[in-house]
Amino acid sequence: MKCYGCFKPINTGTYCTKCKAELFNGRNINQLNFDIKEFYEYRQSQAPRISISGVQDKISLKLEGNDLLPTDKNGTYILKPVPATQLQHSEDIVANEHLSMQLSKQIFKIPTAANAIVHFRNGDMAYLVKRFDYAKDGSKLDQEDFASIIGMSEETDGQNYKYDSSYEAIASAIQNVVATSSMSIEDLYLRIILNYLIGNGDAHLKNFSLYRPEGRSDYTLTPNYDLLFSGYHIHEMFGVMGLELFESYETKSYGALGFYSLEDFEAFAHLFKIPSSRMIKIYKLIFSSASKAEQMIENSFMTDNGKEAYLKNFHNRLKNGLAYTMKEPGFEFESILKPLADDFLRMV
Ligand SMILES: [Zn+2]
Repeated sequence: MKCYGCFKPINTGTYCTKCKAELFNGRNINQLNFDIKEFYEYRQSQAPRISISGVQDKISLKLEGNDLLPTDKNGTYILKPVPATQLQHSEDIVANEHLSMQLSKQIFKIPTAANAIVHFRNGDMAYLVKRFDYAKDGSKLDQEDFASIIGMSEETDGQNYKYDSSYEAIASAIQNVVATSSMSIEDLYLRIILNYLIGNGDAHLKNFSLYRPEGRSDYTLTPNYDLLFSGYHIHEMFGVMGLELFESYETKSYGALGFYSLEDFEAFAHLFKIPSSRMIKIYKLIFSSASKAEQMIENSFMTDNGKEAYLKNFHNRLKNGLAYTMKEPGFEFESILKPLADDFLRMV
């Protein structure tokens, strides 16, 4: 048996001790006492009042004793089942989000919202994530997503506003408003690479936020949330992310290839003055963790087809995207990372 939080082997129960502590105050929680049909009935009845944004159906839950119960106020968890709308491979979306979040947390070591798979009464899986925007006394922490920080909205920028920007714009906003911005920029940088590798075409402005953690006076990036290999459910071109990397700059290789490769990611790091030693550290982490990431994909709760697609996409984006440089004359560029990337490519 394996833990439905972190995939680690366990002898009994559903979650390991660590996940139980992190998610449920150490309690052994019961299976949900409702099924997916009741979820949608409840969701309908709550529709006008629910405040969580996004298109995927979700409800708030609270922990009472050993039960996770639907609630319309002060919920400390969000529950997302398989969506009612028809998507390709929708049966895998729950395990896909869970796997993507665990890769973020365990392999990329990015602060990530605590999450797990839970089961409806009939045994169907749903994705559960613990909210991070409440203090221990129940008060709401200050939090703002980058659409609002940058000042983009549907009214001023049209329906597509959350996709109509760049990671450069997010990084520039961080430089303007975060006191310890160099740490947050590096954190953002790793998140961008993660989104690229897992094929998340939905890493848009609203899926990055700043908040003021309890007991702190300054703002920092919230834990990572809403991560998905979206290319498995909606057709997407190779190398797509939610946003462009740059506002207007274009590297030579991007001009030739039409997708981001090492030169682009290196140029982004230089633009935001990430020191060479830190860049090397980040890429060593990524390249040395590739096999661990692949093991985690194999070990996930996705179907065999889902695992195969996830693995293929991840491997392809790592090898033919992130680590790739053009060999043709005229495409040489000053690179700190190329020796590392070439070493990696020789090994895979
Ligand atoms: Zn666990």
